[in-house]
Amino acid sequence: QHALPVFVDSDIETFQIDARKIEPLVNERTKAIIPVHLGGSAADMDAVLAVARKHNLLVIEDACQAWLAQWRGRNVGRLGNCGCFSFQASKNINSGEGGAIISDDQEFIERCFGFHTQGRMRKFSNEFGYEMSGTNLRMTEFQAAVLLAQLKRLEAHTKKREDNAAYLTSLLREIPGVVPARMYDGCTRNAYHLYMLRYESGKFAGMTREQFLKAVRAEGVPLSAGYGPLNKSPFLKSTLQSRGFRRLFSAERIARWEEQNHTPANDRLTREVCWLPQNCLLAERSTMDQIAEGILKVQEHAAEIARV
Ligand SMILES: *Cc1c(COP(=O)(O)O)cnc(C)c1O
Repeated sequence: QHALPVFVDSDIETFQIDARKIEPLVNERTKAIIPVHLGGSAADMDAVLAVARKHNLLVIEDACQAWLAQWRGRNVGRLGNCGCFSFQASKNINSGEGGAIISDDQEFIERCFGFHTQGRMRKFSNEFGYEMSGTNLRMTEFQAAVLLAQLKRLEAHTKKREDNAAYLTSLLREIPGVVPARMYDGCTRNAYHLYMLRYESGKFAGMTREQFLKAVRAEGVPLSAGYGPLNKSPFLKSTLQSRGFRRLFSAERIARWEEQNHTPANDRLTREVCWLPQNCLLAERSTMDQIAEGILKVQEHAAEIARV
């Protein structure tokens, strides 16, 4: 309870957490590192785990976008102390809403179980014994049935996304100003929840990202803007300045937080990143050609579009 999240800048090439920048932010009150395997590619887990070991920190992997993604041949979500997955409607497998948490720590899993079912522990499942506070996050059997059917085709779908993404990357590399996200060498499998790229306006006659997206969408390419900067959102600032927060954290601590909340690479990425959703990568290979052709057409007409 009452943890203060400290944001680490992103890596401009891979769009993942910049693991080289974690250690300078660690202090005696740091408890855990939460790497996000963004887009289904893997964060640099060698570097994350090295810092965690050195400073005795927990690692909570956000693998919500990364079903079957791998780091050096091991599935992500199994490398840290626990892994979180989501079954929300946009995800590679989904039941509308829902999620899962995995861990080798049996005691932790029992607490998760209790929390998700109103504080009733598994050992009391028939006795209504309450041992902790919790809430109702139970999944229905209807949802489980929908997920089981999707699990059967997850491997085949993941393979198809990988193949189409590799082909699309070979096409997009030829277009100046379109820079697909690089993967770390240790990322031996990418789940491609998102096909991520950086848009360089200068190579498109200065067209803004909004103009670019509007133009490519008119060509039938469902590219959209990436996430905004969570660490710069107004609600976060107002929360930090709220009275409740000021009781929990000293003014010096909050001032230091604001100073540390300096993320130039992420600020740039939130202005430049565009992505295609995972379902595009389940289309035919010829669709990848059409995506590249659509973007190329916009580039050819960039000067005219930028003038409008
Ligand atoms: C979807 C998602 C979440 C949240 O999952 P919910 O099931 O909607 O709570 C968290 N992290 C990432 C990276 C996600 O993509």
